Amino acid sequence: MKVDKTEQLILKIVEQNKGQLISFARDLYLHGEPGYREFRTAAKVAGLFRELGLETEEGLAVTGVKGRLSREHDVTVAAIGELDGIKCPAQSHANPENGISHACGHHIQLTAMMGAAIALSHPEVKAALGGNAVFFAVPSEEFSDLDYKDSLMRQGKIRYGGGKAELIRIGAFDDINVCVNHHLHMVDTHHDVLLGNNTTNGFVCKVVKYTGKASHAAIAPEKGINALNAASIGLSALAFQRETFRDEDHVRVHPIMTRGGDMVNVIPQQVELEAQVRAKTMSAMLDASHKTNRAFEAGAHAIGAKLTIVDYPGYLPVLEAPVASALMEAGRAVSHEASVGLIDPQVHNSASTDVGDLTHLMPVAGFTTGGFSGSLHSADFEIVDEEKAYLLPVKVMALTMYHLLKDGAKGALELMDHFPQHLSKQEYLEYMEGFYQNRKSEGNG
Ligand SMILES: [Zn+2]
Ligand SMILES: [Zn+2]
Repeated sequence: MKVDKTEQLILKIVEQNKGQLISFARDLYLHGEPGYREFRTAAKVAGLFRELGLETEEGLAVTGVKGRLSREHDVTVAAIGELDGIKCPAQSHANPENGISHACGHHIQLTAMMGAAIALSHPEVKAALGGNAVFFAVPSEEFSDLDYKDSLMRQGKIRYGGGKAELIRIGAFDDINVCVNHHLHMVDTHHDVLLGNNTTNGFVCKVVKYTGKASHAAIAPEKGINALNAASIGLSALAFQRETFRDEDHVRVHPIMTRGGDMVNVIPQQVELEAQVRAKTMSAMLDASHKTNRAFEAGAHAIGAKLTIVDYPGYLPVLEAPVASALMEAGRAVSHEASVGLIDPQVHNSASTDVGDLTHLMPVAGFTTGGFSGSLHSADFEIVDEEKAYLLPVKVMALTMYHLLKDGAKGALELMDHFPQHLSKQEYLEYMEGFYQNRKSEGNG
C-alpha cells in the first residue's frame, strides 16, 4: 500500500492537531443544542474558521456557517457537518440546560469537517488542490420541535424544517458542485469505516387535528361530537391501509396522539395527532401520505367531526449512488490503521436524513464510522474509542476532500459527469412548495 506525499502530510497534520481536535469534539459533546438554535456551536465553528483565515459567512438558515478556502477554481467541493443534537436528557453527556444530547454523533461530523479544514488550509496541501474547498456547518438535521420551527416560519426566518432544504432554498448550495458527508454507522458492520451512503427512506410529516363538540360525558353524550372517536376510527382506517404498502417501498407510518381529550367526564372536543409517513421513493411516500390523509378523513366523516391536516415536507430519500473513487482512495490511505469496507447497496436504512435532499441535486460522497457503543438517539449511547470516533473521521474526510480536488479536481469532475441529476433546484422547490399550496384546500368537515 502506498501513501503519497500529500496524504502523508494530511495524516501528519491530523496527528499534530490531535489534542485540539479531541478537545473540540469533547466540548461539543457536552454542549448539544437543538435545531436552528445551535448558536454556541456555530460561534465556535465560525471562530475557528476565521483563525484558519477562511472567508466566513454566518447566520445562513439562522445558524449555518460556511467557510471558504479558495475561489480561484471552477469546481467546488463542500465538507458538511451538522450542528444540532437530539432531545435525550437521559444520555450521559446530554446538555443539562436543554436536555439535548449528541447521541446522533453530529459533533463528530463537525470535528471531521474542522479537521479537514485545518489539513487543507496548510499551504502545501492547499497548493495541491485544483478545486475550491468549502467547509459547511449546517443546522437542524433532526426533524423535531415543530412548534418552534412553525414560529420561525411565521417570523419569516425559515420556510422549511430541514436545515439543508432551507439552505438549498436560500441558494447556499448554489456554488457547490459536490458534497462530502459523515455519519456514525447506521447499519450493523464490523468495519471501522464504511464507504458510501446507504439508501434511506424519505418522509412527510403531519399534524392532524380533530375538532368535535364538548358535552357532559354521562348526562348528554348525544349532544357532543367525540373527537377521540373520530381519531380512533382514523387510526383504525390507517391500519387497514397497511396491506397496500409494498415490501420494496419500505413504508413506515408511525402516528402518535399528542392530545386525547381534556377531562374524562367531558366528551373530547379537541384531539391531536402527529404522524410521519416514510418510504424509499418519492412516489411511494406520496402514495402512503395520500392514503394516510384519506384514512384520517374517514374518521372525521364517520363521527361528524371537523378535521385539519397540515402536511410538512420532511426529507427526500437518500438515492443509491456508486461509491466515489476519492472515498476509496481515502479508505486505502487509512487501511494501515483501520478496517475499511464498502456499504452493501442491498441494505436499506428505514430512517431519514436531509442528506437525501442533497442527493437529488448533486453528487454526495458519504462514509460512516464507529467508536461508540449503544444505539443512536438512545440513553445508552456512549463514545468508547476517541481515536476511532473523533480522529478517524477527520482523516477520511480530509483525504476524501484532497482526492476529489487534486489534479484539477478530477475526482469531483468524474462524479459530476456521471451524476444523473434527479431534480433541478427549480423542480425541488416546486415539490417543497406544493405542500404549502395544498394546505389551503385541506380541512373538511
Ligand atoms: Zn439523528
Ligand atoms: Zn444524525
